[in-house]
Amino acid sequence: MSATAQSTEEHGAASQLAAMPEDWTRALAVVAHPDDLEYGAAAAVAEWTAQGKDVTYLLATRGEAGIDTMEPAEAARVREAEQRASAAVVGVSEVEFLDHRDGVLEEGPALRRDIAAVIRRHRPELVLTINHHDTWGAGPGSPWNTPDHRALGRSVLDAVGDAGNRWIFSDQMEKDGVLPWGGVRWVAVAASPAVTHAVPVGEEAARKGLASLLEHRSYIEALTDEDPEEYARSIVYGGLDMYGRQNGGRRSVAFELHAR
Ligand SMILES: [Zn+2]
Repeated sequence: MSATAQSTEEHGAASQLAAMPEDWTRALAVVAHPDDLEYGAAAAVAEWTAQGKDVTYLLATRGEAGIDTMEPAEAARVREAEQRASAAVVGVSEVEFLDHRDGVLEEGPALRRDIAAVIRRHRPELVLTINHHDTWGAGPGSPWNTPDHRALGRSVLDAVGDAGNRWIFSDQMEKDGVLPWGGVRWVAVAASPAVTHAVPVGEEAARKGLASLLEHRSYIEALTDEDPEEYARSIVYGGLDMYGRQNGGRRSVAFELHAR
């Protein structure tokens, strides 16, 4: 980092990220597991629902393989309940699950088909998803991402195109009575190593973002010996502050935005 860049960052005045589009009313967030949105993106969701925007969650799995000490059937039940509670905290009342198997998601037509069906039903303008890249960070030696996130994120980016093409998965038109939906204008990828856009979040949305992660208490308690509150606070506020330093010093959630 150059001396100039460093001093700008210290003053928190630089805005290296473009503003997230705000001229939309319906978003669909599609992720692999309960908790994927709560590790940072949920604060942005809280900001948007507070403005009256409509956000729906779609999860490919129930995260049943995510708790080492809990049998998958029990974990699925517990984690679904935690996800619904966590969505409610940020103003999301509709949460759907696709029932793909946790840990072995496969990128491809089967997953794209199920995601496209929900896009056609909800007709969102903005689709949110989670990092589909190989790693979490951009630098050498960055932590390896999980296979589910890679498969899911890439399938979401593809399914957005599928949803608009009436010749792909056309049986959905006859069977489910849905129409093609080509109205998705952006796909925003959370937790990407290549963020381009950011949305500032206020005090209330940040607080709700933290509360939404804390709803995943069984998962967090199995994951770490740290106090759940301290753990969740360091994750959520750590992310908001990190992106804030790239967005004029305002606590923010950042995304890699693909326009369509
Ligand atoms: Zn995940």
